[in-house]
Amino acid sequence: MTKVTLRFDKVASARLLRMRLVGRGEEGTQTTGLATLIGAALVLLLSGALYNASLALAVRRQFSAWQAAWAASMLAWGTCWSQLHLFFFPAMAGALSAQICTGLSCLAIALATLSAITALEQVHVSVYLRRTALGLTGCVFALGLPLSLMRSGPIESLGAVLAMLVLANLLSVAVSIGQAWRRGSREARSFAGAWAVPMLVLGSTSFFDADTMFWGGGSQILVLFAAAWQTLWLSIAASRTYARLRVERDIARQAEAQAQELARRDALTGLPNRRGFIERAGSILNISRGRGDVVALLLIDVDWFKSINDVYGHEAGDLVLQGIACCLAPHESPVSATARLGGEEFAVLVAGMGDVELMRFAEALRHEISSYDHGDVIGHRKVTASIGITRSTIAADFHSLYRVADEALYEAKRGGRDRVAIQLMDAPDRYSDLGEVALKC
Ligand code: GH3
Ligand code: MG
Ligand code: MG
Repeated sequence: MTKVTLRFDKVASARLLRMRLVGRGEEGTQTTGLATLIGAALVLLLSGALYNASLALAVRRQFSAWQAAWAASMLAWGTCWSQLHLFFFPAMAGALSAQICTGLSCLAIALATLSAITALEQVHVSVYLRRTALGLTGCVFALGLPLSLMRSGPIESLGAVLAMLVLANLLSVAVSIGQAWRRGSREARSFAGAWAVPMLVLGSTSFFDADTMFWGGGSQILVLFAAAWQTLWLSIAASRTYARLRVERDIARQAEAQAQELARRDALTGLPNRRGFIERAGSILNISRGRGDVVALLLIDVDWFKSINDVYGHEAGDLVLQGIACCLAPHESPVSATARLGGEEFAVLVAGMGDVELMRFAEALRHEISSYDHGDVIGHRKVTASIGITRSTIAADFHSLYRVADEALYEAKRGGRDRVAIQLMDAPDRYSDLGEVALKC
């Protein structure tokens, strides 16, 4: 073959035509090679678009939404440029596809700029640079859209202006990323890695002719892979950022839970404090009310504690309080709660005990406290405690239980200390009747 003659009608510019003659033997290899390359790039872009869209929905961040839209527009551009869409819409063959490609590439540039500019924190990029990048994107869009609709006229010269605007736009984004990086933006580092490849591709294709590479798919295939690189890089960076944020959130939640727990515990003895006890008591009372169980409150006050402080010192007094807490702590269970309410006053709330069982329990507790060995702290001095008890009626709340138990405690003190006194709710004159019964048991 020495000569091929083709005639085109109404060609706006001969430079927009690109043709290659392929030998019959090479045709299969080239088609397969091109289809593989384009298919791989499109699959990567599709994954990027879907992944970023789901990220945008899951974490509601603007950046991921722009990124998903950008990957989708590049996917549409790649599909259109590679003529894949003609499988589904054959009527679009010809100039219409080329026009759609121009519009899509302008849209992709605008979305890429928006994704970069919205991701960089405002403090890291000057307002001037931000406005320049967004303004240039607007110009690219404003010129690109009408240009994509044109079929005749100064397409070539307008195309050259558009190319300059695109370069200026990309440069402004690159400078914004550079400035944000210098100012310590973490996002900027991810963007630098993502934008470096497309910038290099665009820069290098301006200086050497890549159109003959990849069986004629040259610059477009490079652009597709650069876009796939960018979307993958940014997807990985976004995932890492969200993973980091999740870890930070979990640590903060854990610290908050620990702080909440500490706020409910007494620092000296490790027992729940008044606040923690009232909360636990509330839930035990609720459960017991539902089951019809009786709940009893035991208020425990150390006898003559002030004299322990006076004789052995405040530190020794603290150790004695810790010893008494050791006697009470084992009684913490799903149906009972213990606490140091303050000073040398402790409390135990128990559910589901009958009167005799309750008095036995209180006596055992009193005995345990008085026989606790405080070691060298206060020599062999015995530390005793008085216990005031009351038990609930159906309508009892913690505060009314506390009031009656406190009266019983006062009675135990008045009766000589180191003893248990019980006062039934709604029957204030029935002091220690049950106590007498139980002591005999
Ligand atoms: P009573 O038998 O009537 O209860 O006499 P008491 O001495 O135990 O009672 P009082 O209320 O007179 O004294 C309580 C003392 O407990 C006074 C206070 O200094 C001491 N105290 C309160 N909190 C602490 C603490 O955290 N550590 C120490 N070491 N002492 C405390
Ligand atoms: Mg006391
Ligand atoms: Mg007291």
